[in-house]
Amino acid sequence: MDADVQADDETDDGRTVTATRAVKCPQCGATVAWSPASRWRPFCSERCKTLDLGAWASEAYRIPVVERDDGDDTELDKPE
Ligand SMILES: [Zn+2]
Repeated sequence: MDADVQADDETDDGRTVTATRAVKCPQCGATVAWSPASRWRPFCSERCKTLDLGAWASEAYRIPVVERDDGDDTELDKPE
């Protein structure tokens, strides 16, 4: 039972890809389009990625938020 994974914004490569590449999912062998839309690449899905990382997926998958002890760092993007 996986909780919803927080979607992190992945920046694009910055390159304009003209040809769509395709890779095979290392887990199940499904064809995966190598594009920003395939967020789990080279895996076909979150499930396959999780399975592949099974060693740490079960417990370490939930990484606690690390508290930063820097109290005086300058944050440019700090919402008030
Ligand atoms: Zn797969």
